[in-house]
Amino acid sequence: MSHQPYSFFQSVEKSFDKAAKFTKFDPGILEQIKACNSVYQMRFPVKRDDGSIEVIEAYRVQHSQHKSPCKGGIRFSDEVNQDEVMALASLMTYKCAIVNVPFGGGKGGIKINPRNYSEYELEKITRRYTAELVKKNFIGPGIDVPAPDYGTGPREMAWIVDTYASLKPGEIDAAGCVTGKPVTQGGVRGRTEATGLGVFFGIREVCNMADVMKERGLEVGIKNKTVVVQGLGNVGYHSAKFFREAGAKVIGLAEYEGAIFNAEGLNEEDVFQHRKKTGSILNFPGATNLVKNTDALELECDILIPAALENVINGENAPRVKAKIIGEAANGPCTPEADEIFMQKNILCVPDMYLNAGGVTVSYFEWLKNLSHVRYGRMEKRFTENLNTHILNQIEGLTGKQVDEIERKFIMHGPEEQDLVHSGLEETMITATREIMDIWKNNPSIPDMRTAAYVNAINKVATSYAELGIFP
Ligand code: GLU
Repeated sequence: MSHQPYSFFQSVEKSFDKAAKFTKFDPGILEQIKACNSVYQMRFPVKRDDGSIEVIEAYRVQHSQHKSPCKGGIRFSDEVNQDEVMALASLMTYKCAIVNVPFGGGKGGIKINPRNYSEYELEKITRRYTAELVKKNFIGPGIDVPAPDYGTGPREMAWIVDTYASLKPGEIDAAGCVTGKPVTQGGVRGRTEATGLGVFFGIREVCNMADVMKERGLEVGIKNKTVVVQGLGNVGYHSAKFFREAGAKVIGLAEYEGAIFNAEGLNEEDVFQHRKKTGSILNFPGATNLVKNTDALELECDILIPAALENVINGENAPRVKAKIIGEAANGPCTPEADEIFMQKNILCVPDMYLNAGGVTVSYFEWLKNLSHVRYGRMEKRFTENLNTHILNQIEGLTGKQVDEIERKFIMHGPEEQDLVHSGLEETMITATREIMDIWKNNPSIPDMRTAAYVNAINKVATSYAELGIFP
């Protein structure tokens, strides 16, 4: 994109180097951590519905195998190129390390705009891509496990697992070759909303830190905070939903055709339906249209959530950002120049590589489910409900008092798959936020939260290289 003096991968390297100075590892180990281990660039033909043949350009990058399998989404976008996929694969390594998900980083991309293809064409492209990955041993539950990303979702994941399983007959763990699958195809309940919910849990934890809020003149908690979300895809939509449900006011929403503003707050589902019906986010009843979609990034608000693509806040527009907290729901939305400006303006940028880790965290739960061949909650749900009923009856018998119906339901409820997944995600995001903040507080010369997050990631990856004894 413009205003960017170097590539996306170089910007990841820049942030890494900035943080590496705060660690004491051998330069060779740091070099190895930074490098992308394997880059697979492929071309394959697809027959379009009109009979013509098109050559498709696609990638899969495995950034690190310090833990197996590699993990990361596959995006379908016109902007896909090798540098972008390398950058995104690197971010996956750091992301997994920070949230203690035992995977190496990977990422895939197909250079197509899915809007320009029929469902049948997309299925052919996805299946062929999967077959190419199988041929080169670039996919498998113990090798490399793709997932949804920009432009892909459960439908594509279902095509991938079906193709993989049919090429690998008898592979008992085949369902674990990809995550983000529909529940009927081996997916886990709670994966769809996972990234948005993780963004919410991460920001909520930051907002519960009294000292962090005080430094920025903000009240503790989420309630009544004003929020702007850029991007109404899966991540943006669910982030907006969880903030609104927790009592925040979502005053601005942006999509690529424009942005809207309402000081009283917007309901993401109503806006989503309006966009579906009219084809545009603009002219939403009661809201003001903003001329450019990027205007939303410059609105006065407490929390800004860029949830679309990389490089949207850079050296050019960062000086005009008025938010007090930025929550990077997208991968790489703010450039290193933007980070410098945020530091001068005392804007807290909560970095992508841990804040949007909810997706991969729940992917990890899905993969575990696939390998264990049992649904979460199956073993304990009824046992817990029976036990809780027993305890409740004893309490009521001993006290002679009755618990009201709502409380009774709550206490008795045994965990279902979605409850456990959400709870595991909440625990993961709270722990990760505290770990990063502790690193930052213990070393005041670390300039920002991104650098603290990288320091945490480097510590963990470097340590596991040392444990593996890869460097004799
Ligand atoms: N594409 C998501 C990400 O960037 C999810 C990856 C995954 O679940 O493996 O983190």
